[in-house]
Amino acid sequence: MQLYALTIHALRELLLKKEVTSVEITGSVLARIKEVDHKVHAYITLTPEVALEQAREADHILQKGEGGPLTGIPISIKDVICTEGIHTTCGSYILKDFVPIYDATVIRRLKEAGAVLLGKVNMDEFAMGSSTENSAFHITRNPWHLDYIPGGSSGGSAAAVAADECVASLGSDTGGSIRQPAAHCGVVGLKPTYGTVSRYGLIAFASSLDQIGPLTKDVTDCALLLNAVHGHDPLDSTSAPRPQVDYTKALVKGIKGIKIGIPEEYFGPGLSPDVEKSVRNAIEVLSGLGAETVDVSLPHTEYAVAIYYIIAPAEASSNLARYDGVKYGYRDADAKELLEMYEKTRSRGFGAEVKRRIMLGTYALSSGYYDAYYKKASQVRTLIAEDFKKGFDRCDVILTPVAPTPPFKIGEKVNDPFQMYLSDIFTVPANLAGLPAISVPCGFSAEGLPIGIQILGNHFAEEKILQVAYNFESETDFHMRKPPLLS
Ligand code: GLN
Repeated sequence: MQLYALTIHALRELLLKKEVTSVEITGSVLARIKEVDHKVHAYITLTPEVALEQAREADHILQKGEGGPLTGIPISIKDVICTEGIHTTCGSYILKDFVPIYDATVIRRLKEAGAVLLGKVNMDEFAMGSSTENSAFHITRNPWHLDYIPGGSSGGSAAAVAADECVASLGSDTGGSIRQPAAHCGVVGLKPTYGTVSRYGLIAFASSLDQIGPLTKDVTDCALLLNAVHGHDPLDSTSAPRPQVDYTKALVKGIKGIKIGIPEEYFGPGLSPDVEKSVRNAIEVLSGLGAETVDVSLPHTEYAVAIYYIIAPAEASSNLARYDGVKYGYRDADAKELLEMYEKTRSRGFGAEVKRRIMLGTYALSSGYYDAYYKKASQVRTLIAEDFKKGFDRCDVILTPVAPTPPFKIGEKVNDPFQMYLSDIFTVPANLAGLPAISVPCGFSAEGLPIGIQILGNHFAEEKILQVAYNFESETDFHMRKPPLLS
C-alpha cells in the first residue's frame, strides 16, 4: 500500500523502524493531493512548504530517538481553527483574507506533538450546514461518488481523510459536524464531551455546543489524535479541569456484559431502509461479541432539531456580531458613512445560510419573543439532557444511526433548509446534552455510499465509547475499504 493510505499507527511503526521518513510520508500525501484534489476539492489553503519544513524538523527529532505518536504525521485542519500566519477563512467571504496572529490551543498542541500541518480544509460557512455546499469558495465532493455531498460542516476534513489527502484531520462539531461527514465518507469521527478539548482559537459558532474533535481512518488513530489535543486549558473558561487521559488504554478486546442502549425514538419513520439495515447489523455484531442490548427511551428526541435551531442561531447571532468590517475581515469599500459600511460589509460578506441564522437567532432573542423561544428551548434542552441521564442509568453506551439517510446528491437539499435541518435529528442531541459521541463506519447503501453508527457515552466516558467502537471495528472491515473512484 502507498504511504498516503496508511494510518497514524502504521506510519508510526515504519518511522520507528526507520523504514521511512516524515519527508517521504509528507511527499506522498502532497502528491496524492495533487492527484485527486481537483476531483474532491477538500482543501481551501494548502501549505506544502510549511509541511515539508515541519517534516524535516520531525525527522530530526525522530533521528534522535525522540518524539511521540504524532511526530512526522501529516494532518489537515478544518478552516474554522486559527493557525498563526496561515489564512483561516471559516468558509466565508467575510474572512477570506484573515490571517490569525496566534495559534488555537489545539494547533499549539499538535505542533508540540511534532505533527505536520498540510493546510486548511473546506467547510460550510461558519460551520453552518450539513453538506459543505454553504462554503463561500467551492463545494467539496464525496470521494465515494463525486455527485454526492460529503456531509458537513467538516466535509473537507472527512473527504480529505477518506480520499487519503491527509492521514487525519481536526474538525468541529456543534450539531453533528464531525460525526455526520465522518459517516458519509466512511471514516471515524469523534465529538468529545463538552469541555474536553479547548475552544481557544476555534472561531465560535454556538459557544455552548461547539467542540473540536478528530476525524481519522480508524478508532486507534482517533484515540491517538484525541490524546494529543485534549486537556485543560486556562485560556478556555469552559475547559474541564481534569487530568490527562491516555485514550489508547481503552482499546482492548472484549465487551462481554457491556450494556448497549437502543433508543426506539431513533428507529422511527424517516429512517432509510439502507441505514436501518446496517445499524441493526451492527447491533448484531456487538451482541455476537457478548454485549447486552437494552431498550432505552429518549422521549424528547422529537424536539431536538427545533430547539437546536433556536439555541444555535441565537448564540451565532451574538458571536457573529463582531464581523462588522472594523477590526478584521472584509470591509466594504463603497460605503460613505459608518452605518452604511456595517450594512454593506455584512450583506456582502455573509452568505445566505449565515444570514438566515443571524435573523433566526436575533428574532428568538428579541424582547417579547425571548421567553417564548430561547427560554423555552433552553428548558427543553434540560429535558433532553435528563432523558440521557435516565438512559445511562440502564446502559453503558447508547447506539443509534448517525444520519437518517446515506449521503444525498449535491443540490438535492440546499434550497430546502427545513429538509437540510431535519437530517441533523440524530446528532444534535449529543451537543445539547454535552455528551461524547463517535461515528464509526458500519455499511454501505445500495449506491455504494458509506453509512455510520453513532455510539454515545455519558459525560467524560470517551474511553467506553472508544472501547465499543474499537471492538466493532475489529470485527468488521468497512473502515478498510477505499473509494473505488480514486484508486
Ligand atoms: N448541521 C448543523 C448546522 O447546520 C450542525 C453544524 C455543526 O455541527 N457545525 O447547524
